Amino acid sequence: MNHNPAHNLALEEMDKACLLHPATSIADHLANGPRIMAEASGVHVTDTRGNRFLDGAAGLWCVNVGYGRKEIVEAVNAQMSRLPFFHSFTSMSNEPSIRLGDKVLRWAPEGMSKVIFGSGGSDANDTNIKLVWYYNNLRGMPDKKKIISRDRAYHGVTIGAGSLTAMPVYHQKFDLPLPQIRYTRSVDMFRDKPADMSEPDYSKLLAGELEKLILSEGPETVGAFIAEPVMGTGGVLPPPEGYFQEVQAVLDKYDVLMIADEVICGFGRLGARFGSEFYGIRPDIMTMAKGLSSGYLPLSASVINDRIWAVLEETAPQMASFGHGFTYSAHPACAAAALANIEILERENLVGNAAKMGALLKTRLKETIGDSPIVGDIRGEGMMIGLELVKDRETKEAFDLSLKTAGKVQAKGYENLILVRTLPHRDVIAMSPPLSMTEENVEALVAGVKASVDAVADAYKADRLIA
Ligand code: PLP
Repeated sequence: MNHNPAHNLALEEMDKACLLHPATSIADHLANGPRIMAEASGVHVTDTRGNRFLDGAAGLWCVNVGYGRKEIVEAVNAQMSRLPFFHSFTSMSNEPSIRLGDKVLRWAPEGMSKVIFGSGGSDANDTNIKLVWYYNNLRGMPDKKKIISRDRAYHGVTIGAGSLTAMPVYHQKFDLPLPQIRYTRSVDMFRDKPADMSEPDYSKLLAGELEKLILSEGPETVGAFIAEPVMGTGGVLPPPEGYFQEVQAVLDKYDVLMIADEVICGFGRLGARFGSEFYGIRPDIMTMAKGLSSGYLPLSASVINDRIWAVLEETAPQMASFGHGFTYSAHPACAAAALANIEILERENLVGNAAKMGALLKTRLKETIGDSPIVGDIRGEGMMIGLELVKDRETKEAFDLSLKTAGKVQAKGYENLILVRTLPHRDVIAMSPPLSMTEENVEALVAGVKASVDAVADAYKADRLIA
């Protein structure tokens, strides 16, 4: 019998005895234990040892309005007392979900038509895959099922979403991906775009590769393309100029749906309501999560446009019920949290603040560490910034990944009381602070990042790892 009397242990030991942590090396976790967060307020989070960090990651790219928002807590409390749960199966409904559906459509780009809620970005992307398949079956195109994702993409971890994710660690030993998923080259202006090529030409090149892939698979077999407006976990990679216009021209030509995964970019992170708005994307389907509720309660949404809805509506009389949805597809308390969250975004114009503070953050990072011997690139839009660390700025030579250079900067960040994240592919430090950051918060984050980067650069110089 494998019975662990975890309750007799100190909290950190209890964690190791009880929990399996996502995206964590099991070996490292058992050796080093957890960092346990205890409370938070504004843009700061305090751990159980009393360290108060400036959260430069907004949790996991999600606490867009910052912590400790009483309005959200009160809205959830009131809803919990009134109606803590009801479902949306068989035409059941509840007021917060209805009002949130309406609000989401008001926020979404023109032409978006219907919302189905879920609990997280992964299940929403699984819903989206099923919606593509359902739509094409309904309109008599049962072969049009393949979905094209991009190298290094992260779209979640469920069986469908995990297949859209294009990182070995999320596939290996899990028997993924599903056979219907294909991948095309990702955007990467730092490492992949030839120096003498313009951004519009690079966009054309990538869209041309997508077209070739669609043609080689057979357009009658390709149902959708999925992309984040700015790729997040894959490296904080913004698209080159004109990318989505070129890509959408190809998708239109072959009747392929565009899925915009707005899980990170949505609800203001780029300094626009959605990445689709920021880049002029015309999505057929949108994935929303994270900033929808600022992570206060689990919530996601799949949003379809008029074109898809028209087919669902037209064929409805011949169909039995729409056979998809979750127990929590209209959770009233989660919807109440999201409504209060969006009200804060609107009232405090946090989308505008994200544009302003994001620009300041990027500028100040460039001014303070742009010349660091280990900083190769500082990129991103709004409150989504990536810092790529390199061994050689001239050649862009990367550090050996086993050195865990970004991890070292992150660890120095803990000492400097800032939280930033590392990404799985290469040495990129990701920053995605709450949209409510003030100028003073930005300066504090920049100072913490600079101190952490400098400390690693100095140590590498001393060890002769860099010149
Ligand atoms: N899509 C994107 C772009 C994400 O960044 C994430 C999570 O980080 C997901 C989907 C999956 O969301 P979740 O972890 O809520 O399932």
